[in-house]
Amino acid sequence: TVAKRLEKFKTTIFTQMSMLAVKHGAINLGQGFPNFDGPDFVKEAAIEAIKAGKNQYARGYGVPELNSAVAERFLKDSGLQIDPDKEVTVTSGCTEAIAATILGLINPGDEVILFAPFYDSYEATLSMAGANVKAITLRPPDFAVPLEELKAAVSKNTRAIMINTPHNPTGKMFTREELEFIADLCKENDVLLFADEVYDKLAFEADHISMASIPGMYERTVTMNSLGKTFSLTGWKIGWAIAPPHLTWGVRQAHSFLTFATSTPMQSAAAAALRAPDSYFEELKRDYGAKKALLVDGLKAAGFIVYPSSGTYFVMVDHTPFGFDNDIEFCEYLIREVGVVAIPPSVFYLNPEDGKNLVRFTFCKDDDTLRAAVDRMKAKLRKK
Ligand code: GLN
Repeated sequence: TVAKRLEKFKTTIFTQMSMLAVKHGAINLGQGFPNFDGPDFVKEAAIEAIKAGKNQYARGYGVPELNSAVAERFLKDSGLQIDPDKEVTVTSGCTEAIAATILGLINPGDEVILFAPFYDSYEATLSMAGANVKAITLRPPDFAVPLEELKAAVSKNTRAIMINTPHNPTGKMFTREELEFIADLCKENDVLLFADEVYDKLAFEADHISMASIPGMYERTVTMNSLGKTFSLTGWKIGWAIAPPHLTWGVRQAHSFLTFATSTPMQSAAAAALRAPDSYFEELKRDYGAKKALLVDGLKAAGFIVYPSSGTYFVMVDHTPFGFDNDIEFCEYLIREVGVVAIPPSVFYLNPEDGKNLVRFTFCKDDDTLRAAVDRMKAKLRKK
């Protein structure tokens, strides 16, 4: 049995696909988790913190050293000076930051606008909050924001717009023009902005732009981020929400009753991670740039129509050259007959039809794994 607020949701597609990968011994380019480990200096910092006895409940909204490290990083990345004790809330991964933001700031009946395809937890958490979800579809090849459509969607009931840049699953990065257009809509209609920026360090073509740094937006924006993608430590589940004090209050009230606090020693290590030298972030981007090229070239050679990915560790492709009716059927064939797992993105739309021609692959895997997956696809996939 399941409560009404979660009735329409299935087992997450990430769980489903990772289970199928194990069952069929297929190469997993589905769920976005690296198959290589995070950096030693961060793992050492966690071990040291445990040995040093940092093992009891943390301060609810984050251990002071991590709140400070988050604020320092935000200043470096976006130019905004924030108060680590009043404007940063540490959560159990960005998924909890999303939940705390939505549950802490959205009332039943409020309307929230998403961009489809959207990360699955947004819709489920909005449903838990009793919100009405509207979605604006980003369409290939460039997944640009349909500005007039967005403008027309904003109503007097709109409480928030939620963006994700760089964008999972498309690899799109919102342009400055798009961000400014959305910002103007928020200001004119007194709408909040929730920005999931977990892939901000994986911006390949242009610099990442934080919505909070657009003039007049900081006071109405909650910026969410995490450790997992940047440090290849997705299992640590350390995230945070940055917001002005009046919004942080709501986020913290929800966080207090969702998890109260998150793992103390891991927070300590996260602070060490965020203080990594610039070279760490440069190397990360260089390594992922090479992996992206390897996968993109392979997917093209295998016969897919590949859409440009300028950020994240995902790439979206069109599978229709192979003659399947939809993404689910194609992904089932890919697992069973080819031995490769990808994500069918139709689950990330209010109207699944909008995503039926698409498939998402991740390149957060070691080069041998990427090559093996590409070889299998080149050998087995045939154009119709
Ligand atoms: N963010 C990861 C992805 O998009 C997966 C997260 C999850 O499994 N819930 O693949």
